[in-house]
Amino acid sequence: MLGSSRDAIVNQPQQSPEPEMWGPRTDFAATAAPAPAPLIDPFQRAITYLRISVTDRCDLRCVYCMAEEMNFLPKRDLLTLEELDRLCGVFIARGVRKLRITGGEPLVRRDIMHLFHRLSRHLGTGALQELTLTTNGTQLGRFAGELADLGVRRVNVSLDTLDPDKFRAITRRGDLKVVLDGIAAARDAGIKVKINAVALKGVNEHEIADMIAWAHGLGMDMTLIEVMPLGEVEGDRTDQFLPLSVARQQLEERYTLTPLPDRTGGPARYVHVAETGGRLGFITPLTHNFCESCNRVRLTCTGKLYMCLGQEDAADLRAALRASPDDALVTQAVIDAIARKPKGHDFVIERQRPAAVPRHMSVTGG
Ligand code: SAM
Ligand code: SF4
Repeated sequence: MLGSSRDAIVNQPQQSPEPEMWGPRTDFAATAAPAPAPLIDPFQRAITYLRISVTDRCDLRCVYCMAEEMNFLPKRDLLTLEELDRLCGVFIARGVRKLRITGGEPLVRRDIMHLFHRLSRHLGTGALQELTLTTNGTQLGRFAGELADLGVRRVNVSLDTLDPDKFRAITRRGDLKVVLDGIAAARDAGIKVKINAVALKGVNEHEIADMIAWAHGLGMDMTLIEVMPLGEVEGDRTDQFLPLSVARQQLEERYTLTPLPDRTGGPARYVHVAETGGRLGFITPLTHNFCESCNRVRLTCTGKLYMCLGQEDAADLRAALRASPDDALVTQAVIDAIARKPKGHDFVIERQRPAAVPRHMSVTGG
């Protein structure tokens, strides 16, 4: 295992091993190679953000995300952690500045901290601006300190309710206390936590306002997410779907919401909540199109690159990666894939309509 500490990262000289990629230099010899071109898609969007689903497995079974009985990918199909690290390096060399590790539950992948150790070197060089993760929080008690030491400054924790019974029902098996302890461990380690909650009709609908008060009371941002039609689950998703336009109207009975200009290149739109002083996000893929400023692509644990969460087209980077120890082939595969990034998705959620895309969120990574 590679050793590293927060101090080691912070104190490392801010110098990239490949400085010509990362900023203006004045000491080029006349023959210096030009910097590699950044990844720009056909709609002139710069791809600076990569999400990596490191496993499709999870220790929970949230009702909107997974079926009770899941057929997970055979372990032999997974990229090794070394291969994931190599692929991330290819993206970083082409201007990706932000990595988010996700899943499935990223912290249940065996030896996952090894990948964080490897990736954190890009924070040390300044090539990477942010290394972060999305987690259900069950393993944060174990890993928060190490993640903080490796330079992880923020995490998104998915939590849909503060009621222990409801939590067990939504996740089909989870223990709320473990997650709350995990959140506390992350905060104690100095990691900023954002709470993501899926708005579920008739389930947490009337608890959202209280959750906002709780999250903001602890200085945590909170973001609400609409259920998306990804992968087949038991039941009909229209029964779960709560339009955030409705949730927002309900919240406005208690809170004063003022739109903020903040944008992350993603689907979230933010408001300031006057009564709590906190920030609340809305992710509304079904009621609001957010694709025009999309800056991200998603890599699965088998090396498929999805250029859009809501479309089927994917590039197989594993074949290119394994075909040659040199990065030229896989770099070209990435460039070719970005050239196919679609303008946007076309999610529709309708009764008895099959899922818009057959893969679960846990495969592509949320
Ligand atoms: N296991 C981790 C977690 O729950 O945070 C990371 C992966 S999970 C797939 C990422 C996010 O996707 C979570 O916030 C989860 O609530 C959300 N999610 C999963 N399935 C979804 C769906 N069908 N519609 C909307 N959000 C979904
Ligand atoms: Fe697991 Fe996250 Fe999906 Fe819940 S949302 S089942 S925690 S991957």
